[in-house]
Amino acid sequence: MSKNILQNELFEAFANASDNIYIYVCDMKSSLSRWSKNTVDYFNLEAEYMTDTANKWMAKIHPDDRSLYVKDISAVFSGQSNRHSCQYRAKNKYGDYVWLECKGSVIPDENGQPSVFAGLMTRLDNQNKYDPLTHLLTNYELQNYDFSSGNGILMLLGIDSFRKINNTNGYIYGNKVLSIFAECLGELADKQDKIYRLQGDEFIVLSPNGTNDKMRELFQKVNDRCANMRGVKSFSVSAGIVSYPQDGSDCNTLLSNLEHSLEFAKEQNRNRIIEFSEKISQRHNRISNLHEALTKSIHNNFKGFELYFQPILDAKTKQIVECESLLRFKTPEIQDASPFEFIKLLENSGEIREVGAWVMEEALRHAARWQKEYGGIKVSFNVSYVQLLDGDFVDKLIEKTNEYQVNPNLIMVELTESCNAEDTDMLSHHFDRLRTLGYKIAMDDFGTEYASFGLLHDVNMDVLKIDQKFVRGLVQNRNMTDMAIIESVVDMCRRLSIQTIAEGVETVEIQDMIEKIGVSYLQGYLYSKPVPAAEFETMVRQKAFE
Ligand code: C2E
Ligand code: CA
Ligand code: CA
Repeated sequence: MSKNILQNELFEAFANASDNIYIYVCDMKSSLSRWSKNTVDYFNLEAEYMTDTANKWMAKIHPDDRSLYVKDISAVFSGQSNRHSCQYRAKNKYGDYVWLECKGSVIPDENGQPSVFAGLMTRLDNQNKYDPLTHLLTNYELQNYDFSSGNGILMLLGIDSFRKINNTNGYIYGNKVLSIFAECLGELADKQDKIYRLQGDEFIVLSPNGTNDKMRELFQKVNDRCANMRGVKSFSVSAGIVSYPQDGSDCNTLLSNLEHSLEFAKEQNRNRIIEFSEKISQRHNRISNLHEALTKSIHNNFKGFELYFQPILDAKTKQIVECESLLRFKTPEIQDASPFEFIKLLENSGEIREVGAWVMEEALRHAARWQKEYGGIKVSFNVSYVQLLDGDFVDKLIEKTNEYQVNPNLIMVELTESCNAEDTDMLSHHFDRLRTLGYKIAMDDFGTEYASFGLLHDVNMDVLKIDQKFVRGLVQNRNMTDMAIIESVVDMCRRLSIQTIAEGVETVEIQDMIEKIGVSYLQGYLYSKPVPAAEFETMVRQKAFE
């Protein structure tokens, strides 16, 4: 019977359940035992099946913990107890002791005699000295470092867009990037520096007596190396720096100041390093207040949110034929929140789903009114990529369009953010469904890092919005490159029957140049900034630009 149990298929299933859980079963009469493959590998055991298990395992246990272990396990094997439960340290293949929580129980045979002993060991990663993946020191070790005496520098490094790297290439590839990066840090840092891995893609270099300049130098070297790594695609890192004791003399203060600096560095674009200062701290407080206000408003019927509308003109007639809905947020405490800033907060927290649904409904509500009063003005609204992941975005849009009785021809969806290859299938599917019903799909910010030819190739579009950067560049520096880019994009769109909108038309000069190139629609401060609905209606009634 016990042989059967040792060879049970369930064992295989559980053995592969997690990489920080190790399982075993033991025939108590013959003392033959079986260990999951990850246990054999991680603890360097001689084989999956072993006899004389007790002694072999005992050799792995930390000498200080052996008596505790023996006491507990002998109670099981002598029949005094049918449960095993204790925490101890065992030596892994690197020669380090790791903390384990070990739980097991006895299965009796048909006569009620102890027959099989089965158990699992969980690695208590949060109190181990070394990180199992990279073999660097852990956060637990950092917490035990004494920052109250001496001085030095800490640098927190984060891999740029690590989530995307992971999502696009899979988790095993992600782990490979982390391991290679850890190795590179080890090679480039000074011998007296200590290197830690925190959670995920965050790493710390602690340099006792180090200087800012030296850390910056290390940062530069690390980035140069990451741009040319063997075995993985090129990537970059950003970093925050603090000095102790100036910026804090306990670990938690230093860590939170580091996080705030890194957060700021990441927002500045990739490959940046930012030193902590009072300004960073104020900025962090401002952003957390903003986020708090946003959340409060979402739970209070979206009070404080408002849609503004910016006219879009037919390039030939200068008639307002369309408008873009743009979200604003204002409360008595928060007067000047930038949409770029609060949209990013909402996207990161996932709250953009709720706010986006509200934006959609508001846009439809106005579209319905303008359809009745002015015979139809197209209304576009922005959707973030996370909203589309929800799956029921399309159903909701169709349902609300019916409810407000809007002609789908009058509704346009603008997509800005990037997505990876697998996702474009899903996007195409959703968008094709909408296009069949008459909705228009626009690609926003064409030419920026996010929206480009890849997306154009994979997803059918009706409209392409040429990014302001190119449009404004036309006169700012009389840039022939921008001119050539816009001309070829417009030409390409003509061939593909895709309409074009130029954003950022700020001057008559730009307008004239754009018109010559043959862009279909114009949007920009030359005509109007985004304004509240009532003001927009006044412009429409007065035929402001014809
Ligand atoms: P976007 O979709 O590219 O919107 C165009 C932005 O350009 C708007 O900024 C608009 O005010 C600004 N703009 C228009 N004409 C000109 C011009 O001639 N010169 C200059 N310098 N700027 C011009 P805004 O309103 O600050 O919105 C910023 C971004 O926030 C939007 O960029 C969009 O990505 C995002 N956003 C706004 N509302 C929503 C929304 O409801 N949902 C989502 N997901 N994103 C939104
Ligand atoms: Ca837009
Ligand atoms: Ca845009």
